Amino acid sequence: MESIKRKSLLYKTGVEYGDYTINHALGCSHGCKYPCYAFLMAKRFGRVKSYEEWIQPKIAINALEILEKEIPKFKDDIKEVHLCFTTDPFMLGYDEVSEMSIEIIKKLNETGIKCTTLTKGILPNELAELNTVNEFGITLVSLDESYREEYEPYASPYIDRIESLKYLHDKGVKTWVSIEPYPTPNIIEQNYDDILDSISFVDKIIFGRTNYNKIISEYKNQKQFYNELAYKTIDYCTKNNIDYHIKEKTITENMPIKNSLSA
Ligand code: SF4
Repeated sequence: MESIKRKSLLYKTGVEYGDYTINHALGCSHGCKYPCYAFLMAKRFGRVKSYEEWIQPKIAINALEILEKEIPKFKDDIKEVHLCFTTDPFMLGYDEVSEMSIEIIKKLNETGIKCTTLTKGILPNELAELNTVNEFGITLVSLDESYREEYEPYASPYIDRIESLKYLHDKGVKTWVSIEPYPTPNIIEQNYDDILDSISFVDKIIFGRTNYNKIISEYKNQKQFYNELAYKTIDYCTKNNIDYHIKEKTITENMPIKNSLSA
């Protein structure tokens, strides 16, 4: 794969629920079409010219070298480091990226820093051998492969993601799922309960709406729809002793809370 050199790596993110983050690749082979916010920003700021360029990622080859210098500088301020917000740490077809992700996590763990990861690829079994302070997650917004093929065309099949997560859970690793960006029924009719049940073993669930999508903005009942699913998530997590976080602007005012909880 092609490579780039970075001048810096660790930075504090303004993203909700994020502390520090590392993005050690430019682009992402998964090529999501919700659309992918990271791609939109990379295009806007001239880091990539096209979708075709985006899905041929470039690895930051000097990432570990930079990390050596940056860890002492930021160590006291870091609560945790998330991999990644603008690329995927375990993207399909690019073992170099996965291998580097594991090396980065090891390096951060050595200095007592916890890592969280999120992927639409497959979590390597090797993660079970790392420090148990870490939390490893997958994104799961459907169980329908035809939806995955259309919106996450080069990401891993849902079942493979869930199995890799379950493997880690069974080894005593902390696991989580991001159900975001969740599609509205005018894009796909699906049973939300089935999605929750497929990941009932995890330690944490994050739920969030889809933004920046024209088809969803045309769905008239979107506020009520997201309110109901957000409260269903809270209800499910509370009953099953799972931590949860509902992303900002997913719950809006004037919603029939009681109905959604009893749905
Ligand atoms: S996996 Fe994440 S970074 Fe990669 S294309 Fe999809 S949304 Fe973008």
